[in-house]
Amino acid sequence: MRNRFLTRIPNGFDLPRRIARLGELAYNLWWTWNPEAERLFRELDNELWERVGHNPIRLLRTIERAALNAAALRPDYLARYEGVFKSYDGYMTTSESWAERQGLQEHLIAYFSMEYGFHEMLPIYSGGLGVLAGDHLKEASDLGLNFVGVGFLYSEGYFTQRISEDGWQEAINQPLDVASLPMLLVRDENGEPRKFSVEFPDHPVWLQIWEVRVGRVPLYLLDANLDANAPEDRLLTARLYWSDLERRIRQEILLGIGGVRALRLLGYQPSTWHMNEGHAAFLTLECVREKMAQGLSFEEAAAQVRQSSVFTTHTPVPAGNDEFPLWLIEKHLANFWPALGLTRDQFMDLARHQQAWGETFSMGILALRFSAKRNAVSELHGRVSRRMWHFLWPELKEEEVPITYVTNGVHIATWMGRRMRLLLDEVLGEDWIERQDDPTLWEKLEDLSPARLWEVRLHLKRRLVFYLRERVRERWRAGGFHPVQVVASGVLLNPYALTIGFARRFATYKRANLLLRDIDRLLYLINRPNMPVQIIFAGKAHPADEPGKQLIQQIYRQVKRAETAGRLVFVEDYDINLARYLVQGVDLWLNTPRRPMEASGTSGMKAALNGVLNCSVLDGWWREAYNGRNGWAVGDDQDYASPEAQDDADARSLYALLESEIIPLYYERDGRDVPQEWLERVKESMRSIIPTFNTRRMVKEYLHHLYLPAEPEYQM
Ligand SMILES: *Cc1c(COP(=O)(O)O)cnc(C)c1O
Repeated sequence: MRNRFLTRIPNGFDLPRRIARLGELAYNLWWTWNPEAERLFRELDNELWERVGHNPIRLLRTIERAALNAAALRPDYLARYEGVFKSYDGYMTTSESWAERQGLQEHLIAYFSMEYGFHEMLPIYSGGLGVLAGDHLKEASDLGLNFVGVGFLYSEGYFTQRISEDGWQEAINQPLDVASLPMLLVRDENGEPRKFSVEFPDHPVWLQIWEVRVGRVPLYLLDANLDANAPEDRLLTARLYWSDLERRIRQEILLGIGGVRALRLLGYQPSTWHMNEGHAAFLTLECVREKMAQGLSFEEAAAQVRQSSVFTTHTPVPAGNDEFPLWLIEKHLANFWPALGLTRDQFMDLARHQQAWGETFSMGILALRFSAKRNAVSELHGRVSRRMWHFLWPELKEEEVPITYVTNGVHIATWMGRRMRLLLDEVLGEDWIERQDDPTLWEKLEDLSPARLWEVRLHLKRRLVFYLRERVRERWRAGGFHPVQVVASGVLLNPYALTIGFARRFATYKRANLLLRDIDRLLYLINRPNMPVQIIFAGKAHPADEPGKQLIQQIYRQVKRAETAGRLVFVEDYDINLARYLVQGVDLWLNTPRRPMEASGTSGMKAALNGVLNCSVLDGWWREAYNGRNGWAVGDDQDYASPEAQDDADARSLYALLESEIIPLYYERDGRDVPQEWLERVKESMRSIIPTFNTRRMVKEYLHHLYLPAEPEYQM
């Protein structure tokens, strides 16, 4: 496999010779999904590892020399060091990756996303869309695909969340210390940063490019935080999802048009262009412009661009797609349409959307029109999308609308707890992760002893509880924390009680408060003698989402009540690190979206692969995964006429399930205190869910159905 990276890793760490390659490992995210590699860093100084936010570059820069010297003398450490680098070198240099065996290495795929969630040290994601993009790149690397990602380096990252005593979310934005992030600036032969500009009608915005190594895959992050730019322009890549439309459209122009220019500058000629959501849709117009500059007509160029473009939609409501008033398009793109040989009106027609309140330019429509391959992210979401966009294909029947679906998956190596992975190594054989998408492999779970499985489950839950206590300890020590918040953050959690997790973005459709609809019934359920139940909430609301923040407050006010006995908990600052602890440590993962708003959802898949059971509305992925024996379904497989009616019905269904099925099953124990029946469900959940709802299956489907050339069925 050829080295695809354009930057050189500095040997800036002064490390003992025997362990000098730790510095190299720190610059490749590969270590984040290889637990043995992570241990090499953590073991050097466990407390420092926590203090530096699991960032190995910061660790290696600040650690005491004595700790490094001690590790370099320990035979067990050195043996594991050798083992890790043997797998790392094998991974990076193999010529036998899956893609190479399939003869796919010539087909370059460029993937564009507004956000990427790889790891907590790199806060350039806000939620599921970003985590999906991160998992997609990791899997592309594992499969050996010829793949390149494009996104933004947000100079302030996503915000840190604090909850006031009264339950109000406070957003803290701080500049990232870019020099200690695992990325390097792309430079020219003279060592100068490579820069390029995107022209707005009044002035250019300059961008520089950072390279992140995601295993074998390079990711390029655009960055406008340059002296050459006006202060207002530098802000364009400061934060995710500005709510100010003017900043938002400029961001999207930088991502789409700037992203194509960055790839060209770096010498990339992709065969497939994948837009993860409509934010990047301007990339199609830049590709059309390029082809017209080489002499093609607009129609010819557009037809070619369609053939190589793939669009994944993630939102089931029209309002979820970015749309801009026409005057904003005019203000920022008036210098662009002449290059396409179009008039203002013709340009607006490319994505004109007639709304009740006027006309807009819809990024969703632009993406749909300029990609021959389009997909939703679950079977139900496919149906909803075909209905939603039917008006663009009035001559077709709804079921013929050319939007297919690829159900989301998760990257197993990233999300599975280490102890669970070791247990599966024993049961399935050490190479199981290479065969993860083979359902027959998972039949072997039959042989897994419930007692061993229970041991791992208890271990993962204790880890969660102790971790949360340490978090509260640090928070309390830092000051400004009211004593009741100490309780509200989980210090009274019992590592042996049935523990329910609810953690995700606090968008109102996710109905975090559904469980609170009948608060007296809930208090009764969690406080029954010999059957304690505890519920852990976590999640951020977008800073401009007032109803989302009110939802957090509503929950926080209940969490603080003495009647909960400390069994309702809200943990601040949900991120990938906390997500990992939660999806591994709780017993039951709860998801209560207002159907069909959850296009897919992925956190429940992360839970399932750790032996956690799902209890969820039949929406998104769960509607496909649920088989009656591998978890629980809240409500029925139907849509409701009114949200009120749906909330009522779903809340009733949820309380009844908890009271008469879930809680009793969990506390039904054999003579050795093992919940045999519960664990039967866990095994059935792992057997039926893991081989399908992973990124291996998902990325292979993208390849076969969307990335590789096949005759387009429809043209627009
Ligand atoms: C997986 C994940 C999500 C997505 O969760 P859903 O419940 O699918 O919305 C959001 N945020 C983080 C940090 C995650 O790890």
